[in-house]
Amino acid sequence: MCLTFGEIVIARDLKDFRLGNALAMNEREVVGVDDGFVMADFGSDFRWGTAVAAFQVEGAVNADGRAASIWDTFTKKKGRIKNSDHADTACDFYTNYESDLDLVRELGFEHFRFSISWSRILPKGTGEINQAGIDFYNRLIDKCLQLGIEPWITVYHWDLPQALEDRGGWKNREIVAWFNEYARLCATEFGDRVKNWIVLNEPMAVAGLGYTTGQHAPGKKGIWNFLPVAHHLALCQAEGGRVVREHVPGAYIGTAVSCSFIEAFSQSQKDIKAAKRADAIMNRFFIEPLLGMGYPFDAFPFLKNIKKYMREGDQERLKFDFDFIGLQNYFSVVVRHSYFAPVLWLKEVSAKERNVPSTVMGWEVNPDGMYKILKQFADYEDLRDIILTENGAAFVDVCTDDGVSDKSRLMYFKEHLSAILKAKKEGVTVKGYLAWSLIDNFEWAEGYTPRFGLVHVDFKTQKRTVKDSGKWFANFLKK
Ligand code: BGC
Repeated sequence: MCLTFGEIVIARDLKDFRLGNALAMNEREVVGVDDGFVMADFGSDFRWGTAVAAFQVEGAVNADGRAASIWDTFTKKKGRIKNSDHADTACDFYTNYESDLDLVRELGFEHFRFSISWSRILPKGTGEINQAGIDFYNRLIDKCLQLGIEPWITVYHWDLPQALEDRGGWKNREIVAWFNEYARLCATEFGDRVKNWIVLNEPMAVAGLGYTTGQHAPGKKGIWNFLPVAHHLALCQAEGGRVVREHVPGAYIGTAVSCSFIEAFSQSQKDIKAAKRADAIMNRFFIEPLLGMGYPFDAFPFLKNIKKYMREGDQERLKFDFDFIGLQNYFSVVVRHSYFAPVLWLKEVSAKERNVPSTVMGWEVNPDGMYKILKQFADYEDLRDIILTENGAAFVDVCTDDGVSDKSRLMYFKEHLSAILKAKKEGVTVKGYLAWSLIDNFEWAEGYTPRFGLVHVDFKTQKRTVKDSGKWFANFLKK
């Protein structure tokens, strides 16, 4: 995936696929390396979990009254998804959820994050409720509780009902009311048993990839979409927090943002300024209005155009006192100034160009970047807990009769956990870690090629095989 404005490309693009580098990572020596930490170092109250998202795993897209989401429409369009992959079946989690939850336990996790498919419970986005959809999530939640797993609900993980996109989607300010209705339904139906809530998943991906570069559903393009969409997302993240607070007593409420440590390619003033602009977009944009600091106009004056979409009282509406912020970190980014990239005037210097280790997604492997971005967020005075709501990597797995060897992923996890521990020891209030992902799944525009799972999925047979990284977690988390 990648985030582009004009010609600039910020990371996340599989077209940069570098098998060479991915294999280089696989060959790194991991056997016999002392982890240097044990589970107890993170504290007895640290939450260990793993995560999935509805559209990426559920399948059953036409089952029991579910209606289409923007991703159903998008995956049917020619040339949008690698290899023309689609998610009609995906991991068939809709059928396999019980045995998949058994795997969560087998891997030692006590927390499990999943998202609700909006169009499964409200096929038209608002109005008529689909009871069969609600029943599915009730079964899922009840099974979690039976197994001693704490469920974490993501209210919105990118799959807007198509019916709402037909009414303007995230560009239409009415979405704040639509989202209120949907979040309220989730809170009232599931809040008696679910206490952990994540309002939005990575709103920057929605605004950037979905409505600016068109690489994600609904495939809209143009910088002028970015501003209203981003503002409506920012309003909804706070609105969702308020709704859950009102309806779920004792809830632990957060919202999840993507973040990446940004470095300037050189110490030139131009590159330094470019890095500041990238930081404003990739790290500061959604967190600062929440904390009452407004949008980061200082680093990127173009953003002032967002005022056109702001109404009286919005500064207040953008605020919400979340119990935690979910940080999702996969890679760090190096940028330089570019005259060829209108609007942001910057360009990413890819991991390949810099010849540093990267994943199948082309993302730089840089655990120190995770440590630095944690420290950067910890500098926000009013930010309470941090939960790493996603972190993980896609590498080429080696499947044999003996199992699935994924040394590079294992190394990645160990190095990133070690970086978290370092930040934690220095006082950063990281309170949990949810590994992405439980199972290999539908990786959005990249289809099924990049595999992020701790558990391998054979998409022809739906057979699950725990990878070595999954076995490592099972051992690490053993009490
Ligand atoms: C998303 C996931 C995605 C992962 C890896 C995150 O941005 O929340 O849905 O699979 O990154 O790309």
